[in-house]
Amino acid sequence: MGHADTEGRRPGPEGPSGSSGARSAYESILRRQSMRESAARTYARALPIVPVRARGLTIEGADGRRYLDCLSGAGTLALGHNHPVVLEAIRKVLDSGAPLHVLDLATPVKDAFTTELFRTLPPAFADRARVQFCGPAGTDAVEAALKLVRIATGRDGILAFTGAYHGMTAGALEASGGATDVRVTRLPYPQDYRCPFGVGGEPGAELAARWTESLLDDTKSGVPLPAGMILEPVQGEGGVNPAPDTWMRRMRTITATRSIPLIADEVQTGVGRTGRFWAVEHSGVVPDVMVLSKAIGGSLPLAVVVYRDDLDVWEPGAHAGTFRGNQLAMAAGAATLSHVRENGLAERAAVLGTRMLSQLRSLAAAFPCVGDVRGRGLMIGVELVDPDPDAAPEPGPPGTPGPHPASPTLAAAVQRECLRRGLIVELGGRHAGVVRLLPPLTISDEQTDAVLDRFADAVTTVARNAARAARPLASTPQELP
Ligand code: PMP
Repeated sequence: MGHADTEGRRPGPEGPSGSSGARSAYESILRRQSMRESAARTYARALPIVPVRARGLTIEGADGRRYLDCLSGAGTLALGHNHPVVLEAIRKVLDSGAPLHVLDLATPVKDAFTTELFRTLPPAFADRARVQFCGPAGTDAVEAALKLVRIATGRDGILAFTGAYHGMTAGALEASGGATDVRVTRLPYPQDYRCPFGVGGEPGAELAARWTESLLDDTKSGVPLPAGMILEPVQGEGGVNPAPDTWMRRMRTITATRSIPLIADEVQTGVGRTGRFWAVEHSGVVPDVMVLSKAIGGSLPLAVVVYRDDLDVWEPGAHAGTFRGNQLAMAAGAATLSHVRENGLAERAAVLGTRMLSQLRSLAAAFPCVGDVRGRGLMIGVELVDPDPDAAPEPGPPGTPGPHPASPTLAAAVQRECLRRGLIVELGGRHAGVVRLLPPLTISDEQTDAVLDRFADAVTTVARNAARAARPLASTPQELP
C-alpha cells in the first residue's frame, strides 16, 4: 500500500528510517525503557515507537518514521497533537507570568475555563451545576463522584455495569467490570453483538433495563437502595458499546423515580467524540453528576466532577488534592472546548463516524474474521473473531447463529499490521478482541481515507494469513515437502 501522508510523505516501514546513529539511539531508549520501567506498562509494549514530534493526526518517531495516530492519547486529543489554538493558549499563560500552581484558588484562567465548560454543558444541567476540581486523572473524578453520592444519600452501594471501565484507583476499580466487590452491584450493559440475553437490539436493552428494575424493586434481591448508578453512555475500554438512547432514558427514569443519583462517566465520550458535545445529549438524559477528564484538559491532565447543586453537601476540605489547579491544563482545555464548539466538530465527528462505520462494515461483509463493526461518532470498534466455522458460536437471536468467539490473537495481529503501515490503533474489549479507532475530531477527509485504506490493508493481510493457517494441509499439496 504505502499511502502518502497528509504532507505527501510515505509512512511506516517505507518511510525514512533515519540514520543508523538515530536508529541505534532510539533502540537504546526502547531498551532502557524495557529494563527500567514497570511490568505494568501497556501501550509501550504493543507500540514500540519513540515519539519526538507530533502535529494533528501525525506522530513522528525518533527513527524518522511517521504514523497516523488513531489512539489519540486514549481518546484525549480531541484536536490532535499540538493544535495551534492549544499551543497558543499555553504560551499565553506562560508569557503572562501567571502562577502555574495555585491549589484551588480562583484565577482568571480557571474562571475562563469554568465559563467555557458551563457554556458547553446541556443547559438543563448547567443551570444548576456546581463544578469540583479534583485530582487530575479521570479516576480521581470518578472517586470524588462516588464519594459525593455516598455522602449526599447516606447510602453505600453503587450500581455499575458489566464491561465498565472507570479507572484504576480503589473505588473506580470496584465499579469497573473486572471487580468482585460486594458494595457494587453489577448490572447488564446492553450489547447488540454479544447480548447476554441472546436477543440483541432494543429487545436486549429492554431486558437489561427490566433486570435492573426488578433488582431494585424485589425486596429479596439482596440489593439495598444504592447511593448511585454510574454508567458510560458508550463503553470505551469495554469494547466500544454504544448504549441505545431508549435504554439511557430507562436508566434515567429508573434512577429518578427511586431517588438514585445517576452519574454519567463522560471521561472518554465527552467533548464531541461521539457526535454530540456530550454523549448524554443523544438521549436527552440529564444526569445528576458528570465526571469529565481526558479531552477537557486539551492534552494536559485535568479532571472535574460536575453535579446538581443540591448534591453539594461536602464539608470544606472533604475532598481535596494538591493538583486541583493546573493552570496550563485549564487554558489548553478552555481553548479546546471553545474550538470544538465554535467549529461544530461534534457534528463533524458524527458525519465522519457514519462514513467510517459504513466503510468498515464492508470489511465485515468480506472477511469472516471481522465479527462486528460498531461505534458512535469517532469512537469506533472492530471486533475480531475466530473465523473457524466450527468454533462454537455464542447464543444469538432465535434462529440465527450467534457471534463467534472473540480473537485477541487476530486483533493483536491487526494492530501490528496497522503499525507496519504507519497507523496507530488501540485494542480493547472484554477479551482484547476489539481494535479501536479514536481519531482526533480534526481529521480531514483525505486523512480519513488514508486511515481506512491502511486499516483495510492490514485486515486483508491478517484475514489472508488466518485463512492460510486454517486451510487443511491436503488442500495445499504444493506446500507439502
Ligand atoms: N472513565 C472512563 C470512561 C475511561 O475511559 C477512563 C480511562 N480510559 C477513566 C474513567 C479513567 O481515566 P484515567 O485513566 O485518566 O484515570
